Amino acid sequence: MKIICVGRNYADHIQELKNDKPDEPILFIKPDTSIIQKKYPFFFPHFTNDIHYEVELLVRINKIGKHIQTKFAPKYYDQIGLGIDFTARSLQNELKSKSLPWEKAKSFDGSTLIGDWFSKKEFKNINNINFFLERNGTKVQIGNTNKMLWKIDELISYVSTFFTLKIGDILFTGTPSGVGNIYKNDNLTGYLERKIAFSINIK
Ligand code: ZN
Repeated sequence: MKIICVGRNYADHIQELKNDKPDEPILFIKPDTSIIQKKYPFFFPHFTNDIHYEVELLVRINKIGKHIQTKFAPKYYDQIGLGIDFTARSLQNELKSKSLPWEKAKSFDGSTLIGDWFSKKEFKNINNINFFLERNGTKVQIGNTNKMLWKIDELISYVSTFFTLKIGDILFTGTPSGVGNIYKNDNLTGYLERKIAFSINIK
């Protein structure tokens, strides 16, 4: 399985990192070796202490597809989740400044948190889902899928023109503003509407 991530999908987050608004979705891939095992904490990698959390709404693909039209995209997923795209920010900035790929900063072992899954049917409108992240009990990121530059169905269509989507693939749909550093002994808890989707400790 693969994890396809979308960069810069919320205007407020583009502003906070002083990036340009893209003309098309920015895509990158995380390997399955980046996934944190269930109930495990996040461990800092050996190469940096500068790690940011990025809470993101997740979509799980349940049908193989390529060149999917936006109007048919809803047939390709039935579960919604929440996760964190842990990012080695200073390393990412260094790679970006050299126009190099981001993989070392985004796809290292343990850089992907995938929370619990919820049936799509539990949400009235896919394009109006609230989610937020608490760091040590304080809300640090608040998002709603209605603020996405590219909506879930548009993303699935776009992604599938480059990468065949397979059952079990996961789409990370981008992070809203409020990203920031994590520190040892932090707790990060993510909420999808009123439900806890994950709670992870930082070691
Ligand atoms: Zn991200």
